[in-house]
Amino acid sequence: KMANETLKAQLGNAAWKLFHTILARYPEKPSLREQATLGQYLYSFAQVYPCGDCARHFQELLTKYPPQVKSRKTAALWGCHMHNKVNERLGKDEYDCTTILTDYDCGCGGDEKEQDE
Ligand code: FAD
Repeated sequence: KMANETLKAQLGNAAWKLFHTILARYPEKPSLREQATLGQYLYSFAQVYPCGDCARHFQELLTKYPPQVKSRKTAALWGCHMHNKVNERLGKDEYDCTTILTDYDCGCGGDEKEQDE
């Protein structure tokens, strides 16, 4: 069995990948319903994340920095800043958020009627 730290890091990599990809694919102009859905998803994510300490800390961060769900850009930047808060706590480097939308292109652009690059 792999060391617990390795498993926790792999879980973190996978979780952050999905987290940032969802935010980078969120509508540019979300409806009120879409805004509510994303907000609920993020609070639920923080509650079900299966590392107790991580979940607790992330819930505190959500209270301090509520999700910015008004547009794709604000949501993706908010997510990047949240991850940076976790990076800071863990002594990791700060990530440059200026290219966050293209960093998390998922290759699913064809799924949408809007033209995505
Ligand atoms: P990760 O932090 O997993 O990042 C993966 C990749 O994402 C990086 O290689 C980089 O390419 C990119 N990236 C880095 N920063 C950003 C950013 N700001 N925006 C966008 N992309 C970025 N671990 C703990 O030990 N204690 C905790 O309390 C804890 N809390 C966590 C809370 C949450 C919600 C999550 C999802 C994970 C948490 N983790 C925690 C795990 C931790 O954040 C890392 O995933 C883990 O330490 C592995 O780190 P890593 O260096 O491989 O890169």
